[in-house]
Amino acid sequence: MARLIISADGPDNVAGWRTAFHHVAPDLETCSWYDPDLELRADDYALVWTLSSADLARMKGLRAIICTGAGVNHLLDDPAFPAHVPLVRMGGDQTAALMADYVLWAALGLLRDARTWALQQVAEVWRNNRVSRTCAETRVGIMGMGHLGAYVACHLHHVGFAVSGWRRSARDVPGIRVFAGDEALPDFLRDADILVNLLPSTTQTRGMINYDLLKQLPHGAGLINVGRGNHVVQADLIRALDEGVLGGAVLDVTVPEPLPAGDPLWRHERITVTPHVASEASREAQVRYVVDVIGQMERNERPALLCDPGRGY
Ligand code: NAP
Repeated sequence: MARLIISADGPDNVAGWRTAFHHVAPDLETCSWYDPDLELRADDYALVWTLSSADLARMKGLRAIICTGAGVNHLLDDPAFPAHVPLVRMGGDQTAALMADYVLWAALGLLRDARTWALQQVAEVWRNNRVSRTCAETRVGIMGMGHLGAYVACHLHHVGFAVSGWRRSARDVPGIRVFAGDEALPDFLRDADILVNLLPSTTQTRGMINYDLLKQLPHGAGLINVGRGNHVVQADLIRALDEGVLGGAVLDVTVPEPLPAGDPLWRHERITVTPHVASEASREAQVRYVVDVIGQMERNERPALLCDPGRGY
């Protein structure tokens, strides 16, 4: 019988997780990673967020590691990560739907220049910054057309935005124009009035949103970063905004997190910062997803969001 060992969110949260699992799957045995008497078994699953290298090394004999985050670069980048143990990322309908709602909010905010309204309200200024442009007249380009990117693309397409996507492999997403590979990147960027980053953080993608890339967008384009903070060269972003190359940016992820007091991103008049909140499913939704993943693996089925350590995502 499968057993789930919980370390996600630290020792203070294990009891809450166990209660939630008990409600959804009363037959699933759960225990705490922090139990000093814990003896690991080869059929154990682990539910994790961040872990020390020593903890990761202890997991080398487990059945699978399930991460409460959709991004797993912090685990894969650790040399102690046991690459032979299956690693499954967080997913599920609510994770994708929350991300789609966030990106829609951010895209509409950039389209109507809502940042100016926010600044004017703080200063008690009543001035019309009319923007007579609709979503149908706005092209959104999504970098990363995986689990989240493809869902977000369809959501924005239904609302009326003209959406295209960019990914590594040439796989279609119905109704969306998809560009594939590095050679297609310039054509993809040329038509993106709003660029959405939903790439995973890998050796290929870190730092790729730099000044040279931003210059390839239409003048005054918007940027929404919901991938990872280290995709963006933050000094280049500020330069692009100050020069008008970019018209605005919405950043849910930064380097570092939390963003320290005094960081120039906080106060830039063209930047909206949110505290890495774009998509975190409810605990119940996460528990249901984890129970589904364990069920699939117990039936020897391949979970959809199984990571490939060689690929880095
Ligand atoms: P995913 O399913 O692994 O999709 C990744 C996409 O990126 C795929 O389309 C992949 O191309 C593409 N890609 C990877 N490397 C590439 C490269 N070098 N060139 C071009 N395309 C490349 O990941 P996901 O579940 O959609 O999540 C994406 C990221 O969102 C996560 O890694 C995480 O960092 C971030 N995230 C943020 C939040 C938040 O709250 N801000 C929440 C969840 C996730 P292929 O399709 O060809 O493989």
